[in-house]
Formats: sequence, C-alpha cells, structure tokens
Amino acid sequence: MAKVFVTQHIGEAGVQTLREAGHDVIYRNETEPMTPAELQTAVRSAEGLVCLLTDRVDTAVLDVAPNLKMIANVAVGYDNIDVPAATERGILVSNTPDVLTETTADHAFALLLALARRIPEADAFMRAGKYEKFEMFPPLLGLDVYGKTLGIVGMGRIGAAVARRGALGFGMKVLYTANSEKTAVAQSLGAQKVSLPELLRQSDFVSINVPLTPETRHLFTLDTLRQMKPTACLINTARGPVVKEDDLLTALREGIIWGAALDVFEAEPQMTPGLADYHERLVVAPHLGSATGETREKMVETAVTNLIAGLAGNTPPNALNAEQLS
Ligand code: NAP
Repeated sequence: MAKVFVTQHIGEAGVQTLREAGHDVIYRNETEPMTPAELQTAVRSAEGLVCLLTDRVDTAVLDVAPNLKMIANVAVGYDNIDVPAATERGILVSNTPDVLTETTADHAFALLLALARRIPEADAFMRAGKYEKFEMFPPLLGLDVYGKTLGIVGMGRIGAAVARRGALGFGMKVLYTANSEKTAVAQSLGAQKVSLPELLRQSDFVSINVPLTPETRHLFTLDTLRQMKPTACLINTARGPVVKEDDLLTALREGIIWGAALDVFEAEPQMTPGLADYHERLVVAPHLGSATGETREKMVETAVTNLIAGLAGNTPPNALNAEQLS
C-alpha cells in the first residue's frame, strides 16, 4: 500500500481503481490547481502522485517529497514536469499517449475548418440579426480547404492523425517537420519532410503538433509568421508558448497571415491582451484538444494504470524515464 496524492478532480472511477489496488489515496476533488506552496505541502508524504498539466512539478516540489516513487501525468505533454530532475531522484514519470491522439486531431481539424469557413463569426453574425440579404460575395468569405497544402510541424502521433484527415479526407498535400524521418506515414499519405522555412513558404494551413521544449518555445515569432503566405492559417493545438502570442496578434492585425485557430495559450488560462478582443479570422478554444468524455476517462484510466504498475515495482506502460532509471 502506498500513499497517493491526486492533485485535482479526475472523477471517482480512477480514484476507486487506485483504492481497489490497495493504495491510501488523498483525493483533492477540486477543479482549481493548487498554488506552488500548497502543492509542496501536499506532496510531503506522498509515494505516488497523479497530476494534471496545470500542476507544475519542479525541483521545489520534488525536493520536499523524499518518498515520491512515481508521478503519473494525466496528459501526453509533460512540459509541466521536470523529468530530468525526477530521474535524478529515482522517480518514475508517465504520461497518457495514444488514447487522445484521434480526439485531439479531430479538434485540430474542427478548428481548421471553423477558421477557414469562419463558423464562429458566422454564428455571431446570425445571432446579432445581421443576416438581412444573400450576397454573392458576403463579408464572411472563407477559404477552400480541399486540395490545399497542409504543413504539420511535428509529425508525431497527433501530427500524423491530423495529416491523415487532411490527405485522405480533404485531398490535401502534406508537408511535415520532425526530428526524424516518418517513412511509414510519409509513404501512406505521400507526405514530404521539409525544412521549417520550406513548410512555412508552401503551406496553406500550418498545424502545430510539437511538444513544448526549450527548442520549440517561441518557435513561432513574427519572423516565422512572416515566412508564411498572407493567405495561410495557423492552427495550434500543441502548447501555447510555442507561439509568441504578441507577435501572432501583430501578424493578424497587419494581415501577415490570414487567420489563426488556438486551443492553447502562452499564459493559460489568460490570453494576451488584445487577442481576446480580436474576432476576425481568429478562432479560440479553452484547451479542449482531448476534451471528450470518452477520451478524458481513458486518460485517467491510463494514468492510474501506469501509477499502479510503477508503485508495484513494474515498468509502467507509458513510463518516460524507465530506461534511464534502470
Ligand atoms: P509525439 O508523438 O511525441 O509527437 C511530437 C512530434 O514532434 C514528434 O514527431 C517529434 O519528432 C516532433 N518534434 C519534437 N521537437 C521538434 C522540433 N523542434 N521540430 C520539429 N519537430 C519536432 O507527441 P503527440 O502525442 O503527437 O503530442 C504532441 C503534443 O500535443 C503534446 O506534447 C502536447 O503538448 C500536445 N497536446 C495538446 C492537446 C490539447 O488538448 N490541445 C492534447 C494532446 C496533446 P520525432 O518523432 O522525430 O522526435
């Protein structure tokens, strides 16, 4: 039996599974994240930690948790956890890949289509009673999606799922960047690996699917955005800090790119001042990439399965640092 701390609301099912596995669970059933000081107090005696992407698990937390054996993040991205510092302290870390891939790709494509066809603006237009006459060239003219070029920045699990939707569903030509060649997906979709400048130069829709790392932080600045076509759209369902939001606002205002769709923000839950008031060709969502009931339940189940395995001395299915620890 291990002491497990669950930082935020994850639903009763996951907590019950942990208890059935014999663990002594302290469940903070709240939807607000803790302050750093509260988290540091809460983890003092914990052996297992279940956390969300809004919990920053840094050295200040790890240093006051001498009994901690494992951290199970309920997310695929793990930029909220200092994994090297956890590894140094012999602490396993896991994430929840795969179960959210298709759901997040659906959302990326939903945002892409909503932006291209200006659905939120059209919805607001109708509700404001502004639809008075049919026009051949109405104020809300959109962009075609079919047959266009889709640039995937980060052809991993989600990037490939977005690419499949584009290539197979919308006849799009796919370009991508990644650290390594993605031969299988490239062959099946006819996708081509190119440099980032080349991808930006050619793409009509650019989908960001990289993890947040020191290399990808502010990968999109005014300089990057200027390399895109003035008719191009940027879709970010990865992590907010990959895009410098101030620069994106400038790019939208100055017509450097056509539009943007954002699921994630630099300083979530806040938006850069000015962005919230900017309505034209900007679609925003409150970090809903994986947010379907089914997928969120699977994410919790996956995190809990990982934690139970790790606390039992087994290698968790989605361990991020098992090799380094062994
Ligand atoms: P993944 O399979 O690890 O894919 C990430 C891809 O990015 C990999 O192909 C990697 O290349 C590539 N990459 C890494 N650094 C790069 C760089 N500097 N330049 C170009 N490519 C780079 O991860 P995933 O499961 O697809 O998830 C991707 C990210 O989406 C997560 O990290 C998370 O932050 C975000 N996400 C957001 C939501 C949401 O709710 N909005 C939901 C789920 C995930 P290699 O394979 O060659 O290393």
